[in-house]
Amino acid sequence: PDKLEIRNVTKYYHGRGNSLPVLENFSLAVKDLEFLVLLGPSGCGKSTLLRIIDGIETCDSGQVVLDGKNVTNTTGDGRGMVFQSFELFPWRKVIDNVAFGLEVTGVGKAERLDIAREYVNLVGLSAFEHSYPHELSGGMQQRVGIARALAIKPQVLLMDEPYGALDVQTRDLLQDELLSIWERQRKTVIFVTHSIEEALYLADRIVVMSPRPGRIEQIIDVPFGRP
Ligand code: ADP
Ligand code: ADP
Repeated sequence: PDKLEIRNVTKYYHGRGNSLPVLENFSLAVKDLEFLVLLGPSGCGKSTLLRIIDGIETCDSGQVVLDGKNVTNTTGDGRGMVFQSFELFPWRKVIDNVAFGLEVTGVGKAERLDIAREYVNLVGLSAFEHSYPHELSGGMQQRVGIARALAIKPQVLLMDEPYGALDVQTRDLLQDELLSIWERQRKTVIFVTHSIEEALYLADRIVVMSPRPGRIEQIIDVPFGRP
């Protein structure tokens, strides 16, 4: 069954006296529990699409439908986002960064911390729950970002070039950690990258986008199982 449907989404960015479409009538159905990778060159609209799915960016027309429910241009409901630049709160400890997403959902403080602790543990950072982001390496900061996104128990995990700011060794390590978490806690993932290598390593299905306006060039099923 389809978990998420993107229906005829159109998005324009308005520049000096012109408005260029980034996405024009873009449609895609994402299956339940699949690991979908959106692959395409820089500037083709991957990040815009992901932000529209998350709701932090609005679209001009079209719909985002999650579990049959229209969530277009709304945030929070069932979607967790991981950013390339981590986007952690520098003045909050690791545990409080992870608990943050639960504040808006109205979970009480003690329960928030219990849940946050569970997810800090899941990403292997129990010893650092009282550290501040600047005390951690890049890889560790992104583990916090992943824990924060997962703690709200999203239906769909959205990842926007999450390892783009990390060195190659750390990236490889975090890719394997992500797959291992995903094996244990299956959920629908949409992962954005411009790296063919990364897409082939992670994906069940790769949606290849071409630029201006972002269109689907081809969809590739990745048949050979993961290592
Ligand atoms: P990708 O994630 O594939 O690199 P983006 O979604 O970030 O692509 O950007 C798609 C296009 O939209 C690019 O040409 C970019 O310059 C343009 N764009 C992105 N954000 C904005 C913005 N806030 N204002 C104007 N143009 C933007
Ligand atoms: P990078 O972060 O280069 O961005 P890592 O995320 O692998 O690399 O972490 C860098 C260093 O931080 C490692 O050498 C390791 O000693 C330490 N580190 C990372 N994760 C943990 C952890 N869960 N527990 C203890 N130490 C860790």
